[in-house]
Amino acid sequence: MAVRPIVISGSPVLHTPAARVDSFDADLAHLIEDMLDTMDAAPGVGLAAPQIGVSLQIFVYDYPDDAGNPRRGVAVNPEIFVSPLEIRDATEEDEEGCLSFPGERFALVRGAKTIVRAFDAHGVRFEIECEGWFARIMQHEYDHLLGYLYIDRLDFAEAKLAAKTERKRGWGKPGLSWMPGIDNLED
Ligand code: ZN
Repeated sequence: MAVRPIVISGSPVLHTPAARVDSFDADLAHLIEDMLDTMDAAPGVGLAAPQIGVSLQIFVYDYPDDAGNPRRGVAVNPEIFVSPLEIRDATEEDEEGCLSFPGERFALVRGAKTIVRAFDAHGVRFEIECEGWFARIMQHEYDHLLGYLYIDRLDFAEAKLAAKTERKRGWGKPGLSWMPGIDNLED
């Protein structure tokens, strides 16, 4: 089991729709273990396979509920249903981050509720209902499988800031990555 490098905005794999998983075998189990290790090392509350350079419809998540009960798992070939977006301006409370746009946060309005239907590592179907930040994580990770970063969904003012940041950091081109536990990109 291993921590893998996380690719940064500009790598084509992040901007391309991911393929469905068609066999629930030992290779898949190994990949999921690496994704969990990488998410934990980052640390993050979610990670999608394209973020470690693998263009498959898989994401992992780890976000306890308000009572501290663990909600950790993997969604393979997920479908998502999102409640209608409220029409309102994004606020500080909506600030989202992404391990592929590391150390930055921008505000984005998301649906307050989601239902995710997916397969687990063994190919067993499951469904989870999510609210609040957990629902946001699901929408964010699902977007990765479509080839979108949250940056792509920002309103005009925030999108301009994000584009400026990307230029300043020298991102937005292929071949960039960072290694959780070794590189510190928070500064
Ligand atoms: Zn992300």
